[in-house]
Amino acid sequence: MQRPPSGRGDRRSPAPTQPALRFAPSPNGHLHLGHAASALLNATLAARLNGCFLLRIEDIDLARCRPVFVDAIVEDLAWLGLAWEEPVRRQSERFPAYRAAAEPLVAQNLLYPCFCSRTDIARAVAEEEARTGRTAPRDPDGAPLYPGTCRGFSPAEARARLAREPHAWRLDGAGARAAAGPSLAYARFTIDGAEEAVPASPERWGDAVILRKEVPASYHLAVVVDDADQGITHVVRGADLEAATDLHVLLQRLMRLPTPRYHHHPLIRDEAGAKLAKSAGSPSLRSLREAGIGPDEVWARVAAALGVTLLA
Ligand code: GLU
Repeated sequence: MQRPPSGRGDRRSPAPTQPALRFAPSPNGHLHLGHAASALLNATLAARLNGCFLLRIEDIDLARCRPVFVDAIVEDLAWLGLAWEEPVRRQSERFPAYRAAAEPLVAQNLLYPCFCSRTDIARAVAEEEARTGRTAPRDPDGAPLYPGTCRGFSPAEARARLAREPHAWRLDGAGARAAAGPSLAYARFTIDGAEEAVPASPERWGDAVILRKEVPASYHLAVVVDDADQGITHVVRGADLEAATDLHVLLQRLMRLPTPRYHHHPLIRDEAGAKLAKSAGSPSLRSLREAGIGPDEVWARVAAALGVTLLA
């Protein structure tokens, strides 16, 4: 099967006008066919658009990410025949940049400190559900929206607790939407190049965590900051992240960052129709390799599952 032309050895950084795409795995397990789908689509589109293909390691979750999985990602992608522009970005090296990027949001009172533990939140949600007799609203990932416990603290109270308690920083969702103004939207593109505008509904994420308690970053903040910093023009990722785009578009507007175009590809499912996941023990690319399956077969399976032609 024909592959996108190799960019290896070509050390360009994307010029401001050049299309740039990235594959951004989290090294908390081995890559499976779903990751291969994202990687192959990104590389294919980068080649078609004569753009850059970048690899970004999203390893801000220090408790779950492991260097051994970073090495395995590089090995698996090379086995697939992919090549990417150097350097490979590691998000764990960029905490000061994420913290600095959040500063203007803090200065505008769009973030507030949250001292709640998971247990505190679960308790507050359970109490609210008992009081109202209704299930509390959930975000698109199924987690209850933050009940707002820490939203109303006076500046003096917040300051006093900030000095002595671990805390996250949450977006004041309503304030942030008011500050962003109307017409939040992004362009969704298809593999054959069609585009349409999609309205964004960030309210479904409530008061999302922007800086976590354990590290001064969150997936949402880091992805938005890095996509802008790396000049990413086209984001290609799985459909499980489509809803997150609504929040990303809000953050981009607030932080005056460009909004890339987005394509969310269907998730690759196993024979029983379940989403592939590391946690569900889905076969990794390396276990397929050990079973004698070659990279061409992986390309073919991905192309068939997505219903696309993966040619440069
Ligand atoms: N790191 C994310 C993941 O592995 C992907 C992030 C993105 O593509 O925006 O699911």
